[in-house]
Amino acid sequence: MTAFLPFTRPSIDEATIAAVADVLRSGWITSGPKVQAFEAALSAYCGGRPVRAFNSGTATLEVALRLAGVGPGDEVITTPMTWVATANVILEVGAMPVFVDIDPATRNIDLAKLEAAVTPKTKAIMPVDLAGLPVDRDRLYAIANARKLRVVEDAAQSFGASWNGKPIGSTGDFVSFSFHANKNLTTSEGGALVLPADMDPALCERLRLQGVKRFPDGGMDVDVLGGKWNLTDIAAAIGLGQLPHLAEFTERRRALARRYLELLAPVAALTGLELPPADFTNSNWHMFQPLLPPGTDRAAFIAAMKERHIGVGVHYPALHLFSLYRRLGFKEGDFPAAEDVGRRTVTLPLFPAMADGDVERVCASLGEILG
Ligand SMILES: *Cc1c(COP(=O)(O)O)cnc(C)c1O
Repeated sequence: MTAFLPFTRPSIDEATIAAVADVLRSGWITSGPKVQAFEAALSAYCGGRPVRAFNSGTATLEVALRLAGVGPGDEVITTPMTWVATANVILEVGAMPVFVDIDPATRNIDLAKLEAAVTPKTKAIMPVDLAGLPVDRDRLYAIANARKLRVVEDAAQSFGASWNGKPIGSTGDFVSFSFHANKNLTTSEGGALVLPADMDPALCERLRLQGVKRFPDGGMDVDVLGGKWNLTDIAAAIGLGQLPHLAEFTERRRALARRYLELLAPVAALTGLELPPADFTNSNWHMFQPLLPPGTDRAAFIAAMKERHIGVGVHYPALHLFSLYRRLGFKEGDFPAAEDVGRRTVTLPLFPAMADGDVERVCASLGEILG
């Protein structure tokens, strides 16, 4: 029987497993030297900017908003085509998300429509690099600078991607990464926040852990409400083991994506399947997501792929149509491009350990089911 092919799967090598075992034996299993080493390595990757590690990419987004001074009465502009965490953290800090529809060509926030959404209450923009395809940083920061808005880059999916030849994370305002198990680089759960180059990380550290400020004499004070968002050394050891493989992971993902695009071009021409943008310069190919032909029964498609031992994901339904957001007044028809993608998108298997033959099997199955 053919083995089940999941839509993603982390690549953890034996050296990383041994490093995790060493941490477990060391007697120090929460935040410690491994977290510091991981932060230093991330900072080096991000051109020397200050970076702090967290236990999720949701916590990093929330802390970035707090550091940017976003709170009750403020508006934050973002995309409805993202993981719901992006918008949830805006609500969490007491602000209101203002959605701008996506550009169907990139499926990222439509920068041509962004300025029209700016109001006197707008404090920040939270762009999302969906599937690892970076939002145009030149245009984004031109708007942000002209309107004096902070930017919290939700780069949860774009670790390893680049813009103008520079790694995402090495430029810009706040940059938030996630190291969730499904992301291109994982710590099982985790995240990292890249701070503006000139920002003292002290407040970021207090927001991360109960607001605690420690003194050299062993005393402490708490002057701000913080969360419980520190990364463990166990998780950091996984991250340290992953980092040396980042470039090879990205390269492999790109090669697999290229093969998908080649093999699916004839299927697309025949069936109306819509392929993702063919970017091999900037994107880290976090996901490979075609849009099913309009009118296709997606649930039936996913079930048919499952029968063929192939896992298919959905990332994501347009988030303004979730009950929580409908209660805030959002409704069907508000963001037609995001809704169209939300109804038709499917995530096909793509991860570094996949074989070329796996791509061929997925494409053959897809052709069979749609044809
Ligand atoms: C994964 C993800 C997050 C949240 O990261 P966690 O580490 O799961 O908290 C936020 N935004 C986007 C776009 C993501 O893909």
